[in-house]
Amino acid sequence: MSSVNDLYVLLEVVRSATDDDIKKAFRKLARRYHPDINPGDTSAEERFKRISEAYEILSDPLKREFYDHNGFYTEGVLEQHTAQTTWGFSFKNFDFGTSVPKGEMFAQFFSKRPTRRDPERGNDVECQISIGFADSISGLKARISVQRRHSCTSCEGTGRAAAANSNPCESCAGTGNVTRARGRLRFVSPCPDCSGTGRTITDCFECGGESRIVRTDIMELDIPAGASTGSRIRFPNNGDAGKYGGPGGDLYVITNVAPHPFFKRAGDNLQCTVPVTFVEASLGAKVEVPAIDGRTLVRIPPGTQNGQVLRLRGKGAPSLLQPGLRGDQFVEIRVVVPRIADERSKEILKELAQLNSEDVRRDIWKA
Ligand SMILES: [Zn+2]
Ligand SMILES: [Zn+2]
Repeated sequence: MSSVNDLYVLLEVVRSATDDDIKKAFRKLARRYHPDINPGDTSAEERFKRISEAYEILSDPLKREFYDHNGFYTEGVLEQHTAQTTWGFSFKNFDFGTSVPKGEMFAQFFSKRPTRRDPERGNDVECQISIGFADSISGLKARISVQRRHSCTSCEGTGRAAAANSNPCESCAGTGNVTRARGRLRFVSPCPDCSGTGRTITDCFECGGESRIVRTDIMELDIPAGASTGSRIRFPNNGDAGKYGGPGGDLYVITNVAPHPFFKRAGDNLQCTVPVTFVEASLGAKVEVPAIDGRTLVRIPPGTQNGQVLRLRGKGAPSLLQPGLRGDQFVEIRVVVPRIADERSKEILKELAQLNSEDVRRDIWKA
């Protein structure tokens, strides 16, 4: 769930970004974090390294496909996995004896003519939940009903009725393979008309050939501490199942947090207003104020003015993006002026005014 290591987040692009979007985003970030522009700044250097690595993966269609499907990519992993890829091809159909350069071999994957049985990534699914303020601070297990597409069990996501119930394919005479020549090289690839099965394709009765079925699930999801209104929490591979065995989409839960009578959220920070008497503001005081984990003592410095804001470090909301960290609590001071009714108090205040004859309006004549 940690989105900090998500390559799309690193490059600040959406998952559906085009190659061009990715290139532009990378250039923009590279200009910002390049070590030449930030000499001696190790965090910029580290960031530059990570965005470069992210770009290297997302700009390569095969690596990106692998990353989208598996949520990670490491050098060399493609060579280990492509033999059992689920996107419809396998290396066993290629004649490795002819030593085709790797680039050309991959070009074969992408230049092949599309059939309507191509695997497709499932869509991302979004849903919203309303949660209480306290739950947003502590995190919670939420039960949520999600309508999404599941891989059809009766055809195992192929969209086809069982091969035993269909006739041999005419295009490949039932072999499942077609052979194409390119110069001296011969390529054997799966028959596009029957997707390599050797049988004519008959749609699955259950899903009508779509390979997926819509169902509503009650899910129990861990909403991490720190969600605020509008947070998008990602649950990878919990969206729509892929079409024809493609990778699944992600589920995004968008939170709507009930307001709190005392605290206001501003990012990971909390804001609140605390009334103090004019004597407390003038002489200084220690006052107890609510905090999200109980009460806390705030020192009001002598001479505090109305509207002044005090900061309580680390007393804010937990950070959703950086688990373990917390924002700050900001306390705005509201000085309450006493309504004096008795003569003795009036005398004291008049005496106070004589002793402290500061002209509080001198600045308004300066303009
Ligand atoms: Zn089916
Ligand atoms: Zn065929």
